[in-house]
Amino acid sequence: MNNYQDIFDAQKANQFAVGNTTYKERIAKLKALKQAIEVDFKDQIREALYSDFKKPFLETDLTEIYPILSEIKHVTSELKGWMKRQKVTTPMALLGASSWYLYEPKGVCLIISPWNFPLNLTFGPLVSAIAAGNTVIIKPSELTPHTSQVMHAIISKLFPEHEIALVQGEVEVSTALLELPFHHIFFTGSPQVGKVVMKAASAHLTSVTLELGGKSPTIIDTSANLKAAATRIAWGKFVNNGQTCIAPDYVLIHEDVKDEFIQVFKTVIASYFGRDAATSNAYARIVNDRHFERLQNHIENAKQLGAKIELGGHVQEADNFIAPTIISNVPEEASVLQEEIFGPILPIKTYTAITEAIDYINSKEKPLALYMYSKNKKQTQLVINNTRAGSTCINTNVLQYSNHYLPFGGSNNSGIGKAHGIFGFQEFSNMRSVLKQHTKGSIEFLFPPYTNLKQQLVDFTLRWF
Ligand code: NAD
Repeated sequence: MNNYQDIFDAQKANQFAVGNTTYKERIAKLKALKQAIEVDFKDQIREALYSDFKKPFLETDLTEIYPILSEIKHVTSELKGWMKRQKVTTPMALLGASSWYLYEPKGVCLIISPWNFPLNLTFGPLVSAIAAGNTVIIKPSELTPHTSQVMHAIISKLFPEHEIALVQGEVEVSTALLELPFHHIFFTGSPQVGKVVMKAASAHLTSVTLELGGKSPTIIDTSANLKAAATRIAWGKFVNNGQTCIAPDYVLIHEDVKDEFIQVFKTVIASYFGRDAATSNAYARIVNDRHFERLQNHIENAKQLGAKIELGGHVQEADNFIAPTIISNVPEEASVLQEEIFGPILPIKTYTAITEAIDYINSKEKPLALYMYSKNKKQTQLVINNTRAGSTCINTNVLQYSNHYLPFGGSNNSGIGKAHGIFGFQEFSNMRSVLKQHTKGSIEFLFPPYTNLKQQLVDFTLRWF
């Protein structure tokens, strides 16, 4: 088709055919997608991600392919139940009627995805959109072109354009798409661009899911098992080379255990990546020159402001390599504490009272994730009760993403709406209420003309129902 308007119009015309599919037909589509990812295109996917930012094959399997396969498995086992009408109670005042609601497809949806988990964050929402019976236009990130190419090949092989289409390109493509009156937009990316998307959506009152980012803090108190914390944080921070929306952005640690933690953390990093992470097969690269420079500037800026580089700090421009870097004594005005880091740099800040850590977190935007390492249940609960965040892990990180039974998403600046499992299905659906009148309803006795007797009945209703 020639342009986005044509694709949109074709999908709009096709929306009821797609929306009226049975659960079996939708499952068949999801299984075809699974087969493509798991078997037919698996090697191409791994190679594309390696070309895009040297993502290790194992990380691609674990963080791109596996999440989609397991999401498809979960959705296919639950979809029949989700698609059933959901009966609800009808109050006595509506005697003679019954009520239910059902999940109807939103219609024609737009998915705009980022580059950092380019396959996972494109096909993940797509699984929910297909399950809910929508037609979809997908716009993946221009920063991971090899992966976009493979996804395009998969989509064009499996679906006609009037059902699912993937269009490639830079910001102008998103801008043009955002002018169309979609029924839902599912956007994953930065809060800045999230605002652009929401503004554009408001022109058509299009509903939005915004999966955004920000700075996700990690608190470590004096009761924490420091070895376990270091082992898990080092994985959560450096997997995908720190380019993960729910990566621990910075650590807030009690000052009594800071030195010990840094020592343990260094040992763990050496055990993961050896003496030189540049030669490790477990260490990806920064996606492009712009992001490489941004991260390099964070390190230089922190150094200039007197921060201490505890580990790493060196870079190799030729292949966008930044060593695993730990920085302590970071002044508050340092850019690394002001902006989302999105790379392999971990600033460590100290506190003396837990309320200080809580106040610090609350002085910033609501994070996408907040992590707490502690054996102290009271202190953990205090942190949860007195902060706000999209999600929290206690004594681990990042794994909340992998449980389909948990809603995944942020709050305000870190996002609007939820993804995964039933929550993703709901996001792409409209909950349509139905009330059916079976016999003459009691309310009909109150229709005009209004008489004294009817007034007495209303008085009785107000009092007793
Ligand atoms: P981004 O916001 O720059 O880009 C995301 C998508 O929006 C891309 O497809 C891009 O082409 C498009 N885009 C960029 N500028 C646009 C504009 N002005 N108008 C319309 N579309 C535009 O994000 P990114 O750099 O690809 O990804 C990193 C950000 O995404 C980080 O903030 C990260 O935390 C966040 N993120 C969030 C999640 C989540 O699930 N909450 C997951 C991954 C990444």
